[in-house]
Amino acid sequence: MERALQGISASPGIVIGPVHLLHWEVPDVPQRIIPDEDIEGEIARLHQALGVARGRLRAVRERAERHAGEEDARIFDAQLLLLDDHEITSRVESYIRQNLGAEKAFDVVLLEWRQHFARSTVPMLRERVGDLTDLHIRVLSILLGLGDHDPVDVPKGANAIIVTHDLTPSLTVQLDREAIAGIATDSGTRTSHVAILARSLGIPAVVGLRDATSRLRGDERLVLDGSSGMLIVNPSEAEVATFAHRALLEKQDEAELAKIADAEAVTTDGVRITVRVNVDLPEESDQAAHSGAEGVGLMRTEFLVVGRASMPDEEEQYREYTKVAKAFHGQPVVIRTFDIGGDKLPVGGFPHEANPFLGWRAIRMCLDEPLLFKTQLRALLRAAVHGDIRIMLPLVVSLDEVTATRALIREAMQELEAQQIPFKRDVPVGVMIETPAAAVAVDTFLDESEFFSIGTNDLVQYTLAVDRGNANMASRFTPLHPAVLRLIRRTSEVGQAHGLEVCVCGEMASEPLLAFVLVGLGIRQLSVNPRAVPLVKRIIRGVSASFAREAADAAVNARTAAEAQRELEFRLRAAFGNVSFIRDALH
Ligand code: PEP
Ligand code: MG
Repeated sequence: MERALQGISASPGIVIGPVHLLHWEVPDVPQRIIPDEDIEGEIARLHQALGVARGRLRAVRERAERHAGEEDARIFDAQLLLLDDHEITSRVESYIRQNLGAEKAFDVVLLEWRQHFARSTVPMLRERVGDLTDLHIRVLSILLGLGDHDPVDVPKGANAIIVTHDLTPSLTVQLDREAIAGIATDSGTRTSHVAILARSLGIPAVVGLRDATSRLRGDERLVLDGSSGMLIVNPSEAEVATFAHRALLEKQDEAELAKIADAEAVTTDGVRITVRVNVDLPEESDQAAHSGAEGVGLMRTEFLVVGRASMPDEEEQYREYTKVAKAFHGQPVVIRTFDIGGDKLPVGGFPHEANPFLGWRAIRMCLDEPLLFKTQLRALLRAAVHGDIRIMLPLVVSLDEVTATRALIREAMQELEAQQIPFKRDVPVGVMIETPAAAVAVDTFLDESEFFSIGTNDLVQYTLAVDRGNANMASRFTPLHPAVLRLIRRTSEVGQAHGLEVCVCGEMASEPLLAFVLVGLGIRQLSVNPRAVPLVKRIIRGVSASFAREAADAAVNARTAAEAQRELEFRLRAAFGNVSFIRDALH
């Protein structure tokens, strides 16, 4: 077997530890017809398996409560309730009485229920699909003798590297940071949400390994290099020493960079760039506030929902948004309304769609579920009393979506006023430019938008027709494609000509080489992941805006992304020489 598996760098850091192979997929169930005399025994076997699953779920719930808190642990209450659901068990029993083996009977019923819930028009039922899937896997694993293991059962201090096909929300909330040193997944890319979450949690991660789960047996040791996207299986002593040395160098680079975290982001010819931070998990806000950033350029509120059994109510949202606003002491905090759907699902809460990224996602879903949307808007207007909160709308393609949202905001304000609940009236509302439609027609939003923020993860995906989460397409996901650069430049020019702030909050802003081209395209606000703050400041402080502009002109006029990359690399090397910190930028 090949010992070096190449994936995609998702979250930096080098770790060495044992594999924890995590297969959390519905197993294949063989068809098994049983004779009449075995029916009662088979029913007893079913109930025994349900009992084992119940015990295990209680233990998992207790652990999740300790690691992630009561709110996140509730995800398992829903599963416990479903496990005791009389309708499910009696239906499984009836199939067994028709001579189906217990595992096939359970499999059929769970498939029926999952389909039924997924198609339901009742959001609460749709939210149960993920729970049903987890239950499906858990009980079948017991019935088929595949073990009743807890998928994330890793002892503290194990320093294990989780290797799995995909990291689902219910698995994520179970991760014990004291036990897990790294994450490796078959699926995903740099901009898929498992990668974004790993960066937020500061866990080194490699994604897009394609078939790591089938190549590994589970008893190996691994080196995971999150910076180069590499896994080394059963490393030799010499390899371990090499990687340990590189890990040390990375730490030194990081410590060196940290010194400029609080410096001003100003180019050598005096152009001031605002560097803000992306906040994915509310509990990160205190740490993010000390990253050297000047406010939050993007708070992804869907992470309040992901992994949960139900939507957070207005009070909970109000508390979370207030916490972030207060942590940033009056600096701008741009909070994005729910971008749920696509690959950002609350526990299976949506109907199956053939093309979820082109489907019921983000602002589309929010406008179709006005109660859910208004709850969030009310919480935001209330929290804005405690800081400079700004509301940002994701995946907008048309002005109608903005006007409809503004109407809902007015409605929310009238309600709050009538209820005499304090709120802020003039909260700025901005549009995310992350579809080619919004970028080409960016002028149509000028009257209704108080700022623009370019979501390059989606803008690249939709412009180049390349699925951002598909590991097989990762090399085609090229933010330096001339079409993407031209859309960014157009947005920047139109916005600024009308006095609007134009920020870039996609992952492009966090990559040094790409941050350089963005400044050259006229962008003056960047929102980056917390670890990238000093890195991006270092780039900005080392170049002049006119030099960046000249480089960006060359990149925009290049015919391909590769040509643009060469133009930029050449200039960055000239400006910085062989400084190790731009290593990332240049690989
Ligand atoms: C983007 O699309 O660039 C963005 C910032 O939003 P998300 O990654 O959450 O879709
Ligand atoms: Mg987006």
